[in-house]
Amino acid sequence: MISKRASEFTSFIVMDVMAKVEELERKGEHIIHLEVGEPDFPTPAVITEAAIAALRNNRTRYTHALGLLELRQAICETYRQEYGVSITPDQVLVSTGTSPLLLFAMLALLDAGDEVIVSNPRYPCYQNFILAAGGSLQEILTYPEEGFQYRHTDIARKLSRRTKAIVINSPCNPTGIVMTREQMQDIARFDSAYIISDEIYHGLVYRGKAHSILEFTDKAFVINGFSKRYAMTGWRLGYLIFPRKFSAVMQRIHQNFMISANGFIQWAGIAALTQAADDVSAMVATYDERRRFMLERLAGMGFTVHVEPTGAFYVFADGRKLFADSYREAFRITEEAKVGVTPGIDFGSGGEGFLRFSYATSLENLKEGMNRLERYLERKK
Ligand code: PMP
Repeated sequence: MISKRASEFTSFIVMDVMAKVEELERKGEHIIHLEVGEPDFPTPAVITEAAIAALRNNRTRYTHALGLLELRQAICETYRQEYGVSITPDQVLVSTGTSPLLLFAMLALLDAGDEVIVSNPRYPCYQNFILAAGGSLQEILTYPEEGFQYRHTDIARKLSRRTKAIVINSPCNPTGIVMTREQMQDIARFDSAYIISDEIYHGLVYRGKAHSILEFTDKAFVINGFSKRYAMTGWRLGYLIFPRKFSAVMQRIHQNFMISANGFIQWAGIAALTQAADDVSAMVATYDERRRFMLERLAGMGFTVHVEPTGAFYVFADGRKLFADSYREAFRITEEAKVGVTPGIDFGSGGEGFLRFSYATSLENLKEGMNRLERYLERKK
């Protein structure tokens, strides 16, 4: 029998849309993909070259359970340079993407029934990591007009003796919104719980600056990785920064469950952190051009974007003036307009009436996608 726990894991609703996209493509239809959550750019050549060199040099063994010391040092240096914070390599764990690290952070923090606060809407996987570790999901509804940020009073009301952590994500998937310094400080003031700060979209910021939670508190677990900033989704490389007292337990968890992350890919990670800044700048400039284009076109079609998304590569557009059921609408847009989009309901009930559009595709595709969507909406009138 399948365990009760496993049967409760939720799946991405967008997978249903993607199955429909596949079916249409098999029939020879041309679909514009605005549903995808990964960079369309190739990984910068300096990174690929470093991986090839590492393979040629037989860097093909297990590494230290926490990760190569050289990579952990480079991560500490990155956080020092970008945020002025001081962390040491014994506070860093490198793994195969950030996804397993979210699970390991929950395993390190939660006893059965311990509570974790997450916003609604949010990245849909969070709830399953909490569930896997035996924790209890505590949702807080957030509002579009407030940039989907927590209200201080709502957190205060939700906190209990069992609250172990509060999850934040800036720049955010699905909203693309970047938290301000004040918003981060406000969360850091809740010092009875750990803050789990998902910083995987750091580096993809088009105006202002993203802050790390570590600027405001040490009582935090920071999730970060290479998938988005360095266009390395398929490489599977991420890291976790944690308070020093968790060093031994994180090492033990990783030794048992993973042994270590892939050795040669960690060498590529060092190249990413130390040599790929120009490549990232070029990608950021391109994303920004696409972002501005998409915002303008969506507004012209009657979508509302309440707070400007200035990070990641998503626009979370309010379509409540145009439709009510985001799941049905996403399907109709896919089938009739031939544009793949993600329904807002995928991110929780607070996302109903919204669609997530990704601009991780060429400007040419975006133009075609926006034209198709506009014609579809015209026909619907
Ligand atoms: N956090 C967020 C908010 C994400 O969007 C993603 C990827 N979609 C992840 C974490 C996981 O990324 P990875 O496992 O590739 O590091």
